[in-house]
Amino acid sequence: MNQPKRYLITAALPYANGLKHIGHLAGAYLPADIYVRYLRAQKRDVAFICGSDEHGTAIPIQARKEGTTPRAIIDKYHELIKQNFADLGISFDIYHRTSSPIHHETSQEFFTYLNSRGELEVKESEQYYDEEAKTFLADRYIVGTCPVCGNTRAYGDQCENCGTSLSPEQLINPHSTLSGTPPVKKSTKHWYLPLNRHEDFLREWILKEHATDWRANVVGQCKSWIDGGLQPRAVTRDLDWGVKVPLPEAEGKVLYVWFDAPIGYISATRQWAIDTGKDWKPYWYDKDTQLVHFIGKDNIVFHAIIFPIMLKLHGNILPENVPANEFMNLEGDKMSTSRNWKLDMQDYIDDFIKKENGGPQLADSLRYYLTTIAPETKDSEFMWKGFQDANNSELVAKFGNFVNRTFVLMHKLCNGKVPPLHAGRVDETDKEMMAAIGATKTKVEKLLEEYRFRDAQFEVMMLSDLANKYMQKKEPWIVARSLAVTPENQQLIDNCLHICLQVTANLAILINPFLPFTAKKMLHMMKVVEKMLDWENAGKLNLLSVGYSLRAPELLFRKIEDEEVKVQIAKLQAASAARIVDAEGAGASAGAGAAGAAAGEKGGAAAGGVAAVQEAKGTIVYDDFAKLDLRVGTIVTAEKVEKADKLLKLGVDLGSEVRTIVSGIALHFRPEEIVGRQVVVVANLAPRKMRGIESNGMILMAEDKAGKLHFVNPAEPIEPGAGVS
Ligand SMILES: [Zn+2]
Repeated sequence: MNQPKRYLITAALPYANGLKHIGHLAGAYLPADIYVRYLRAQKRDVAFICGSDEHGTAIPIQARKEGTTPRAIIDKYHELIKQNFADLGISFDIYHRTSSPIHHETSQEFFTYLNSRGELEVKESEQYYDEEAKTFLADRYIVGTCPVCGNTRAYGDQCENCGTSLSPEQLINPHSTLSGTPPVKKSTKHWYLPLNRHEDFLREWILKEHATDWRANVVGQCKSWIDGGLQPRAVTRDLDWGVKVPLPEAEGKVLYVWFDAPIGYISATRQWAIDTGKDWKPYWYDKDTQLVHFIGKDNIVFHAIIFPIMLKLHGNILPENVPANEFMNLEGDKMSTSRNWKLDMQDYIDDFIKKENGGPQLADSLRYYLTTIAPETKDSEFMWKGFQDANNSELVAKFGNFVNRTFVLMHKLCNGKVPPLHAGRVDETDKEMMAAIGATKTKVEKLLEEYRFRDAQFEVMMLSDLANKYMQKKEPWIVARSLAVTPENQQLIDNCLHICLQVTANLAILINPFLPFTAKKMLHMMKVVEKMLDWENAGKLNLLSVGYSLRAPELLFRKIEDEEVKVQIAKLQAASAARIVDAEGAGASAGAGAAGAAAGEKGGAAAGGVAAVQEAKGTIVYDDFAKLDLRVGTIVTAEKVEKADKLLKLGVDLGSEVRTIVSGIALHFRPEEIVGRQVVVVANLAPRKMRGIESNGMILMAEDKAGKLHFVNPAEPIEPGAGVS
């Protein structure tokens, strides 16, 4: 393949309604940054584009909740997220905003162009309207009873209990989550992008042309979308927050956020060009540009199907690749903002980078671990213990140790200067070590070009591993100690350290895309300029000149202590437990304690959570309450959980199934006395593992003044599975 003239690299625009967690970082931003840093080191022309997605219904809804304006919400999160990325070394060329005038103008031009060429369809339709809130309702903001499973909290787009895709028409007793009133139908006109017109193009372009060079998960997801039948998709909606539809007859309508958000890449590129005095057009129109979208798997359909259709119709280039990652879980569970089971970038920055004994090296520790577990082909798992191991036994014990020993020995045995290489004394071991440098460069390069970042980083670490073994074999310190150092012996020492120093310089170049703060520190120690990091220097064996004096060694990484890991795990469990109790407090009367997932293994965490419930809580909107799927169940089995004196494993009949629920009530009830009891279950609580048992739900309990727990249940026995609302 010919090398493209320029690269346009985008990373998914984060939604500016809250902090982003490390799953997001690992999914799109870190791999994109590694790729871009590599391209820059290759001296290629590259623009790295990102920014805040600031439209959509969630932002005004959240503003209403917080009693503030949408503008205040986006201003706050735009700045926070931007700073988080900077602290973690994500090196965007621009971090733009879709609320900017240039974005509104660019999106409106895009819409007008497509509309004027007949690429959009206009349809009149009846849509749900909330007369009290005076607004049309997105499907997600309508809830009602699922016609399939009877779940009383099904959304207008999907029932989360049985997974059925729904439309609001199918719901029984639909009502608005904004006002609680039943929505009425009202006629409205909208513009649609007929995706169905482009099926042949998509089949040809994705399923044939990119069948092998795109990741299998991406091609697979596209194929199932195309095979499932493409439908016209509404481009406009009735809302007052977003990019106004540039037509006189479209008063009160804005562009759908899915339509304007990806155009955000184009408007950001325009702004970047203005800021830097460049021409933006070749980046979006010239076929010699390689466009790559880095995204998480939830974004595949937008970046591989819908946006390419828009780009094609608008006369732009198409993406060359869409390397989407799968998801990253955290400590055995899906990362989730709503359940508070997550690690925000902000939290990591506060707890590690900003702390005493922290600093940017800790940014690299996170970058390193996230890349070793990058979910490139399947979901992966962030474990705090794994983070500690990767840092301590790989970064500290291998890479850092090699660089440190090299510098210490060079100062001790070679007067702090780069020793010469005595050609006549070079042996096979030396030659192998030198050959490994060039071989590593070739491998890393190939892997990076294929978007295989995990494997590429692994190869760099292998080189440091090899170098440790090389030094161990050569034992220059023994040579120095064993005899009065003869010129002969000094030559052996010189050769070993000369080679180790050239390896060190190469490691700096090769690790730079992955761990940029570390590379910078190495440059400082070697007293060389940043230009040495140019990729063309990788593989060279004369990067440090003979006789050049180098600085004293500094430690590249610090150990992560057991205590730090413990603190993080406890923090995660406490935050999650508090959130679960919160959610329950919203669904049951005050005083109901959490016996179940919240009262899990960690007594401390659960206690913290239960205490929180005793305080009066702030008002919530109906939507928060509506998220709970509460049901009546009958306990059919109960047994003690081994080695856990607080836990009982329960089988609870919910009508359609018997659920396993682990509940923290063993100190209050004997198993045999509760079989047959009716209880109220939070049925849609995400599964949690406790003592190796997966618990699927939570039993509601009320706690009296004496701290005794009581079941919450219907006054008369009723059929299991009945909804509670
Ligand atoms: Zn259902």
